[in-house]
Amino acid sequence: MTASLAPVPASGASHPRDLLGRPMRDLRISVTDRCNFRCTYCMPKEIFGRDYAFLPHDQILTFEEIERVARTFVRLGAEKLRITGGEPLVRRNLPDLIAMLAAIEGPVAGELDLTLTTNGSALRALAKPLAAAGLRRVTVSLDSLDDAVFGAMNGIDFPVARVLDGVDAALEAGLDPVKINMVVRRGVNEDSVLPMAAWARDTGVTLRFIEYMDVGHSNGWRLEEVVPAAELAATVGAAWPIEPIGPAYRGEVADRWQYLDGRGEVGIISSVTRPFCGDCTRARLSAEGQFYTCLFAVRGHDVRGQVRADPSDEALTTFLTDIWTGRDDRYSELRSAATNNLPKIEMFAMGG
Ligand code: SAM
Repeated sequence: MTASLAPVPASGASHPRDLLGRPMRDLRISVTDRCNFRCTYCMPKEIFGRDYAFLPHDQILTFEEIERVARTFVRLGAEKLRITGGEPLVRRNLPDLIAMLAAIEGPVAGELDLTLTTNGSALRALAKPLAAAGLRRVTVSLDSLDDAVFGAMNGIDFPVARVLDGVDAALEAGLDPVKINMVVRRGVNEDSVLPMAAWARDTGVTLRFIEYMDVGHSNGWRLEEVVPAAELAATVGAAWPIEPIGPAYRGEVADRWQYLDGRGEVGIISSVTRPFCGDCTRARLSAEGQFYTCLFAVRGHDVRGQVRADPSDEALTTFLTDIWTGRDDRYSELRSAATNNLPKIEMFAMGG
């Protein structure tokens, strides 16, 4: 396959566009498929029990391999690197990787947006070393402030207070802004929407509601369990009036709303009811080095095989460019009965 490249930008690097004209701006890097939580909508404990075989160590990318692939993605246009998993903070020596990634020269004024998504359980111990290594900001997942609701959703009765302490640790470490992701599932944590919004307004963190998505096959997803973005906006707006504001950058996943009383903003990620494939600039690298061009991709591309077989940066650049320029994924726009039975990959395995 021959790569079709967009005009060479001033930086000298080639920034390829896919078949729908979308550039690659945002790389999500999963550093492990393991997680200490068993969230019912992601990694339910009935399926991912003690006997579940996670990836052996030699099959996951080393820090050096991740840095090399990330550096190549940055040359191809990535401006943002998001570390994820599984739970990224369970990967040993993570601050060492952050330091390596922070040293990559970014395309815009040499600066890369380096961030991480976590369940927050280990942030009290790790927020400071991560910030010192060059992490800029953090997104913490938290689905309720009610221990009974949160404990049931995270599958291990993990207490809310420890996540809140992790959020405090992130703020103390200067990881700013702290964003909070809340997956809303009908009949499970809808009653937590307003308490979470009130807490975020008081704390100064940016809350983002996420529509429950049909990722993977383990969660038994049903459309009836999705609380639509419009309903979430109406619920919050009835308590504290809000108005829509534009995206902060192309490809931003959350629709942003600001509170009319000036107490910050709230975001809603409406991947089910209002898909945003047309603006999707995201690439995903799994812990074992599979490159996915869509969260709903049915297969990945073997970057680990490529980097282990060929040490040349040029070959890696061509490999990644060919994949990106052949991309035409827009699963969420096509979602229908016809896509129901596609062999999807679990989110924790691909990198959420
Ligand atoms: N362990 C980290 C965490 O908890 O944030 C990172 C990985 S997790 C897979 C990334 C994000 O995906 C979390 O905010 C999680 O709530 C979200 N997520 C997982 N499954 C989801 C689903 N079915 N629908 C919507 N969001 C989901």
